[in-house]
Amino acid sequence: MICKYQELTRLEMEQVDRENTIVLIPLGALEQHGNQAPLGTDTLIAGAMCDYIEKELKDEDINLVLFPVIPVGLSTEHKDFCGSITFKPMTYYHMLYDICESLAHHGFKKLAFLVCHGGNTPIANLISREVRSDFKVYPFVLNSGAFDHPDVKATISKGNTFDFHGGEMETSMVMAIDESLVKLETSEKGILKNTAMKAHLSWLASDWVTEEGKPIGIGGNPSGATKEKGEIILTISAKEIVKDLILIRDFKE
Ligand SMILES: [Zn+2]
Repeated sequence: MICKYQELTRLEMEQVDRENTIVLIPLGALEQHGNQAPLGTDTLIAGAMCDYIEKELKDEDINLVLFPVIPVGLSTEHKDFCGSITFKPMTYYHMLYDICESLAHHGFKKLAFLVCHGGNTPIANLISREVRSDFKVYPFVLNSGAFDHPDVKATISKGNTFDFHGGEMETSMVMAIDESLVKLETSEKGILKNTAMKAHLSWLASDWVTEEGKPIGIGGNPSGATKEKGEIILTISAKEIVKDLILIRDFKE
C-alpha cells in the first residue's frame, strides 16, 4: 500500500497499519537556484522524487505513506539572493519536531525524512535523535539525490567540475519535471571564490561567483542540462532511495 497522506480520509487512516507503515516526509526548499532554475527547484524535485519512488516500488510489498512536501527549509546561506525564503534553524526544528510528535501520537513508528536540500540535513539529523529518544519512534534520514552514483556523474558535461547546487544536475531534474520552468539561455557558471569549501569548512552561497566575480550562489555550469539527463538522475536516485526504504521496512528493533 502506497498512498498520499493528504488524500486519506480519517476512516481510511484508521485502517492504516501505522506500526508497520513508513511515513516519508520530503524536505524541500524555496531558494534561488541561479538565473535559470526556479526558486522551488528542491520542492519540485521532492514531489517528483516521490512519484519516481512510487513507480519503483510498484512490485514491492511495502506500506508507505507519502507526507506532503515541506516547501520551505533552512536556506540561510541563500537569503541575500532575491526570492529565497528560509526558516530560522529553531523554527524549522520545532516545525518538524511537532510533525513527528503528531505522527507518533497517531501510532506511526517508522518515519523517514527525504532530504531534498543539503541545508536541511543538520536539523533532520538532530530531530531524528531527539524524536527517537522522546517518542520511541524510528526516524531515518535519506538523501534524495544520488549525486555520487557513477551513472549520475556520467550525465555531467565534460569540464563541468563542482556541479551541485543549481548546476547541471538539478537543472536537468527540473527540466524532466517541467521544461518550461527552466530558462537555460540565462544560465551562468558558478565557480568557487575561496577555498572554504575545499577545506570542508562552513560556506556561504556568496562564495560561489561567476567568472566576473559576481556572487551567483550555484556550483557548476547548468548550460548542458537536458530533460533526458534529468530523467536518468531522478530514476537512479529513486532506485537508491528504494533500497533504503526496503531496509527500513525490514528493520526490527
Ligand atoms: Zn537545490
